[in-house]
Amino acid sequence: MPYDESVPPTPRRRPLIAAAALAAVCLSAAGCGAGDDGGGAAARPGPGDGSAASAPSSASASASPSSSAAAPGKKSASPTPSASVSGPAKKISGPLSGKTVVIDPGHNPNNRLHTREINRQVDIGTGHKECDTTGTSTNSGYAEARFTLDVSHRLRDLLEEQGAEVLLTYDNDRSYGPCVDERARIGNKAKADAVVSVHADGSAVGNRGFHVILPAAVRGGAADTSKIVGPSRDLGTRIAGLFVRATGSAPSNYIGGNTGLDTRKDLGGLNLSTVPKVFIECGNMRDPRDAALLTSPDWRQKAAQGIADGISSYLKG
Ligand code: ZN
Repeated sequence: MPYDESVPPTPRRRPLIAAAALAAVCLSAAGCGAGDDGGGAAARPGPGDGSAASAPSSASASASPSSSAAAPGKKSASPTPSASVSGPAKKISGPLSGKTVVIDPGHNPNNRLHTREINRQVDIGTGHKECDTTGTSTNSGYAEARFTLDVSHRLRDLLEEQGAEVLLTYDNDRSYGPCVDERARIGNKAKADAVVSVHADGSAVGNRGFHVILPAAVRGGAADTSKIVGPSRDLGTRIAGLFVRATGSAPSNYIGGNTGLDTRKDLGGLNLSTVPKVFIECGNMRDPRDAALLTSPDWRQKAAQGIADGISSYLKG
C-alpha cells in the first residue's frame, strides 16, 4: 500500500516545558527493547492488522521535546530508545491534573521498510511474537499507522486540555517500531494511570464498527496481568460506551458479540503491561463505509473525543 513515509510528527500545540521530567522513560536500548503487539488484529484471520508479522521492534519514544525530536520531517536513523513525551508544554490545571496517560499509536508508517527488524521475535512473557507489524490500510492506501498517529495527536491534545500528563510511545521519531514489548514498558515505566493503544482493523468487507480489546488473565515470564484485568475492563468499558456517544458508530458486528469488547491473551502489549491498558480498533479500514469514516478528519476528532471521554471517566472514578 502506498504508505506515506513522510508524515511529519505533528508539532505540539503548546511548547513543552515539562519534558525533562518524563524524558527518561526509556533510555537504554537494551532495556527498552522489543515489545508489544503490534496490531490488534494481527493474530486473527483475515486482513486485519494484517500481516503476519506483528511485533514492534524496539522502541521507545523519544523523551525529548517535540521541538527537537519531533521536528517535522526529521527521522531518526535508528530506533533510539526514548519516549516521546507528550507532556503538556505548560502545566494546565484541570480535572486530570496529576494523572499520567500513555497513548500508543499502533504500528509505524515506516515499518514496511524494515521487515527484517519488525519480524524479529520478542519475548512477550507467554511466548514470542514479532517486534511489530506493518498494520493495515484502506483500499485507497491510507495507512493504519497514519490514522493511529493522527488520532493519538488529537487525543493527546484533548487530555492535556484537562490537565493530564500525556506521553506517546512514539511520535514519528523513529525509523520503525517500537516493538510491542517496549510499547508496554513505556507505559509501565511512566507508571501510567491509563494506557490506550490506538488501531484500526483490516477485516472483510461488511465487517464494521469498533471494538475495545481487554487483557485476558495471563501469567508467564514477565507477563502477569492479574492486577490489571479488572481496572482495564473498567477503562475499556467506559471507552466503548463513550466512543459510541461521540462517534455514533456501532460496536463491531464481527467481534465481541455487539458489545464492543473483546478479550485477548495473545497481545504482548497487553500481556506485559503492569498498568491498566486497552487497545481500541476504531473501525475496519477494509470496509468502504468504515473507511469513509476513518479517512475523515472530522470523524477522527470524534473518535479521539470518545476515547478521551472514556479515559477521563475512568480516571475520575
Ligand atoms: Zn493495528
